[in-house]
Amino acid sequence: MKNQILGLHHITAIANNAKINHDFYTKVLGLRMVKKTVNFDDPETYHFYYGNEQGTPGTILTFFPWEGMGKGSIGTGQATEIGYAVPEGSLEFWENRFKENNVIVGEKSERFGEHFLPFQDPDGLNISLIVPKKPDNRIVWETPEITKDTATKGFHNITLTLKSMDKTAKILTDIFGYDLVSQEGNRFRFATNAIENASIVDILEEPNGKPGYNATGTNHHVAFRVANEEILMNFREKILNEDLGITPKINRDYFFSLYFREPGGVLFELATDNPGFTVDEPLSELGQNLKLPKQYEASRERIERVLPKLD
Ligand code: ZN
Repeated sequence: MKNQILGLHHITAIANNAKINHDFYTKVLGLRMVKKTVNFDDPETYHFYYGNEQGTPGTILTFFPWEGMGKGSIGTGQATEIGYAVPEGSLEFWENRFKENNVIVGEKSERFGEHFLPFQDPDGLNISLIVPKKPDNRIVWETPEITKDTATKGFHNITLTLKSMDKTAKILTDIFGYDLVSQEGNRFRFATNAIENASIVDILEEPNGKPGYNATGTNHHVAFRVANEEILMNFREKILNEDLGITPKINRDYFFSLYFREPGGVLFELATDNPGFTVDEPLSELGQNLKLPKQYEASRERIERVLPKLD
């Protein structure tokens, strides 16, 4: 087992209306809901996980839909853009699909020699569909409208916007094993070769940028992937050695986690591959039933009554 960070594990963002979020990601974007559960610290709020068929780390986007929470602002100290890999030749399909569905979509453009299409989800979260330079052979989740010629393959990259990047870059390179591989203006691209995909972190350095505010339409944290709990705890030591605070190991039912705030202000998580999303329901049924952590099972009736309806 590699004692390494294996790229991105999941990204978690904040939404407002649960049904709007669910319909957008499963229908318009064509992701699979791989887990429908609740916020473990706030069980009257959902926690949705969207990914590929199995919810493979590196494909998982998760949301807390906090109805009525005000809109956040995107700025420094945040993860500011999520990049999904899509097949070559699919950007026109997506541009048309977004326009038909009244999605706010930007202009097709190019960065680091890769074509991409930026858009916003219903809460204003920034996402780009990117055609990666190197082939991405991950197995996709298909829907009747979105087949393998167009379907998203999982994450390509995450962009962090920071006032100053040096300390964060040092964590990526010295602890996480990433290398600075490219630069375009104030965008610095870091990548790890420990894994084929979801291996890129871009830092956008904006010394005069306004700090972001975490609420609806912003990213909450970025989780990096490790193979198992032993490696997770090795990284805990490394972060403590940098004089950064980090949580103890937390059981998230589908993975084990540590959280720490990196020096640029972004909340980072480290999360394990084990046990995965099939721990409490079979692969064929992922995301179909409300799954509760065992401490809330006794309150299931009340929780089901207060959670928003999705159909
Ligand atoms: Zn997380």
